[in-house]
Order: sequence, then structure tokens, then C-alpha cells
Amino acid sequence: MMKVKAAAFDLDGTIYLGDTLMEGVMEVLGYLKEINVEPFYFTNNSSKTREDIFNKLTGLGIRTELKKVYNSAYAAGLYLKKNAYMEVYCMGSAGLKKEIENAGVKCVSEGSSGAGAVVVGLDSAFDYKKLAAGINMLKNGCSLIICNRDRTFPVENGRILPGCGPIAAALENACGRKADVTVGKPDTFMLEILCSDWGYEKSDIVVVGDTYDSDILMAQKFGSPSVFIGELPEDAGKTEAIREIKGLIGLLK
Ligand SMILES: [Mg+2]
Repeated sequence: MMKVKAAAFDLDGTIYLGDTLMEGVMEVLGYLKEINVEPFYFTNNSSKTREDIFNKLTGLGIRTELKKVYNSAYAAGLYLKKNAYMEVYCMGSAGLKKEIENAGVKCVSEGSSGAGAVVVGLDSAFDYKKLAAGINMLKNGCSLIICNRDRTFPVENGRILPGCGPIAAALENACGRKADVTVGKPDTFMLEILCSDWGYEKSDIVVVGDTYDSDILMAQKFGSPSVFIGELPEDAGKTEAIREIKGLIGLLK
């Protein structure tokens, strides 16, 4: 039987909805502690820093460490550093810019000739002017690096909000080219970082998430087991789904 040592939890729609912790989460985390499976937090959220997300989890009562939280903004910074990008044009929020600069990569302004890439993340203030700036940087030969292609993400009261995907798609559409790199899910870069940071093998990690095209596909591409809890009714269904995870991780263990 396969034995897992770690669980990589998606956040939006798996651990919380907006600012509300989902039912059953504390129970599952307590169970993982009992069976000695280490939880990690894995989100495509690119608008916040790793530290912002750690603070949100802590505020919701989840006891973890900063180094166990991975988001696509943090991953973007690491990717740029690993691939020797010195200067980039950032099309995203202040959180993404901060993570890129934390990695030692400079975010330059539009028109700067030193930028090697345009990096796209979720930006709730995205507009026509920003799109125009992005396509002009790409026209000058930058590579296009996107945080993810998530179409939407769920918040409270059954609402959804547009994700990074539609912003990346607007840029791709205007330029007539596809992104060169995706640093977030379903690409496997975040799992690669997790394995190298903690010394895990692919089969040591179970990915738990509510989005098939993102969470589950990442696990499959990487060769890790996964648990899908998606597309169930908002209220009772999710609780059942969380109970289901408990059973499934127990089985994997
Ligand atoms: Mg999700």
C-alpha cells in the first residue's frame, strides 16, 4: 500500500471560502497530525505574498509555518531567480511585485529595455491601460510568464470572482501568442519546490483540491496521488467531502 508523508492542500474552496474556514477542516488537520502526515498549503493565489497567506491561515486558527505555505507569487519569484531573470515587467498586484523583489529580481516600469519577461498575476485593478503596457513590453521581445490559468475562484455566498486566467488570456489574445511558462497549478513547479525543500518523493505527497483542471491535473502530471473534493453542493456536500478526504488519506497511509 502507498504511504504518504505530506498533504498539499488547495486553499480557495478546499480550506476556506473567502474569509470563512470550511467545515471539517480542523477535524481533517487533527487527523493528519494523528497519522503523522504533514499538511502544506498550496494556492494559485498570485495577488498576495506567501506571508499574507500564512497570516490568513493563522487568523483562521490553522497552526502552520511560513515555509509550509506555497503560492504562485512566491513560485514566480523563485522561477525567475532560478532562470536568471534580472529584471521583469510585473503585471500583477503589489503582492506579486513584492515576491519577485524578495527573490532579488527587479520589477521595472513600462518601456524599460532591460526587462526579460512580462509576469502576469491576478490583479483586481487590471484595466485597458495595463493590458496596453503588457502587450507593448511583449512586442519588444520579453517572454511571457503567467502565474496560472485559473478562470475563477470561489468566495462566500456561492459567488465566484475572475482569476488570473482571463487576464493572461487577454494578453495572449492581443499578442497572438501563448505564454511561455506557467508557474502555478496545474504545472508542477510548486510541487518540485516542495520536494526539493523538504526531501519528499512524488509518491510521498497527496494533493487535495476542489478544481480538477488545476489541483488534480498538477498531481497527475507530477505523478502524485490526489483527492478531489470538487463540485459538490455548497452546504452539506462540502462537509461530506471533507470527511471523504479523511477516509481517503487514511487509506493512502
Ligand atoms: Mg480551489
